[in-house]
Amino acid sequence: MDEKKVNTTVRNISEDLVDMYLDECIINSGICDCEICRADVKAIALNNFPTHYVATEMGEALALARILNSQYQANIIISIMDAAGAVKEKPRHERK
Ligand SMILES: [Zn+2]
Repeated sequence: MDEKKVNTTVRNISEDLVDMYLDECIINSGICDCEICRADVKAIALNNFPTHYVATEMGEALALARILNSQYQANIIISIMDAAGAVKEKPRHERK
């Protein structure tokens, strides 16, 4: 049984991409980069963006590569920047 087990996972590619671009977008938007604000930006961006699940047996890298050249990436960056804007307006903690 175990020998036949393949490493198949279902991943939300949107989340992988948000993770990939989160740092860049936070730096570009100039918002606070603390844990709270980062988590808020990620949550807002993901809520505003359709989930995109893929089943993959070869790891997330390949699945990501398939969509690397699509409009998808540009859209996710826009979502993150919008989310960063929202967090900038209303951070959950006091401004430094
Ligand atoms: Zn913060």
